Amino acid sequence: MTFDAACGKQWMIAMNKTVQEKKDVLTELDQAVGDGDHGLNMARGFQEVVNKIDANEYEDLGSFFSEVGMTLISTVGGASGPLYGTAFIKLAAQLKGRKQADLPVLAAAFSAALEGIKARGRAEAGDKTMVDVWEPIVTHLLKRGELLQVEELTRLAQEKLEETKNLHAKKGRAAYLGKRSIGHLDPGAASSVYLFTAFADVLKG
Ligand code: ADP
Ligand code: MG
Ligand code: MG
Repeated sequence: MTFDAACGKQWMIAMNKTVQEKKDVLTELDQAVGDGDHGLNMARGFQEVVNKIDANEYEDLGSFFSEVGMTLISTVGGASGPLYGTAFIKLAAQLKGRKQADLPVLAAAFSAALEGIKARGRAEAGDKTMVDVWEPIVTHLLKRGELLQVEELTRLAQEKLEETKNLHAKKGRAAYLGKRSIGHLDPGAASSVYLFTAFADVLKG
């Protein structure tokens, strides 16, 4: 399969649709462990992304993802804006000059995006953040390459989100709760499941 800027647009449109529908779910998750704005942050950010990319044409995947990343950074005030923004800017840097990318190339770009998130947030897997979904997904993408089965990808993301429930938050606002964060899902891990599910849907065609 090959992924181009048109696929990127579909991905962002699908992600935006989900976050608008699930805004309240994300808000409730963030009310339990944070400040209750993750639904609003994601809904505002991805709506703005869709508005931007809708009106423009992109020469390559680099310029496309760079616009996505910059838009998220400039419209989302919370921690998640710069973190997702960094991820897309890293994708852009990896895919610069490419009109299309196959799965192994995308997997390598996602790996750089994950490193960007971890560096920016100083988080590791197990800290109860979006990294707990991103890291196993990236490992899976790198391992499977062209043999990827999209259903497997969404199932894995969902499973890793569930596992954040038992974790003790070490980063972000939830860390202020200490052990009381145990028993709640991480909001950013939930929005990351939406992101990878939307990605898988585009791959399915
Ligand atoms: P804020 O916490 O500033 O209100 P959001 O509510 O939009 O921002 O996003 C919270 C999510 O961001 C968390 O659930 C977590 O997944 C992610 N997050 C927060 N801090 C970090 C960090 N240092 N590293 C990785 N992810 C983080
Ligand atoms: Mg919040
Ligand atoms: Mg906030």
